[in-house]
Amino acid sequence: MIVANTEENLAKCICATCPTYTACMRERKEGLFCAKGETGCDIPEEDECVCARCPIDGQYKLTARLDLMEKKILKLNQFYCIKGPAGIKK
Ligand code: SF4
Ligand code: SF4
Repeated sequence: MIVANTEENLAKCICATCPTYTACMRERKEGLFCAKGETGCDIPEEDECVCARCPIDGQYKLTARLDLMEKKILKLNQFYCIKGPAGIKK
C-alpha cells in the first residue's frame, strides 16, 4: 500500500529512534521515508532498520500481514531512506 505523505504520518514515524538515522537527517527533520523516498543525507553505516516496529507499518500493511519468512526477505528491502518509498520499488 502506498503511504500518504502527511504531517500526521510523519508524526508517527519512528526513524529518529533507528541506529541508521543520522545527525544530518535529524537536522533536516527528515523521516517518513516510506512515503517521501530516499534521504538527501549520506548514510555512513547501514545498521538496523526499525520500520517493522513502526505504527505506519501496521496501518499501511507494509509488512504486518506477512509471515515470518516473507518478513525476513522483505527486511532486506526496507531501509526506505536508502532504497526509496514503500510499494514503489522492491
Ligand atoms: S515505516 Fe519506517 S520510514 Fe515509514 S514512518 Fe515508519 S519508521 Fe518512518
Ligand atoms: S527508513 Fe529504516 S533504516 Fe532508514 S532511518 Fe527509517 S527506520 Fe532507519
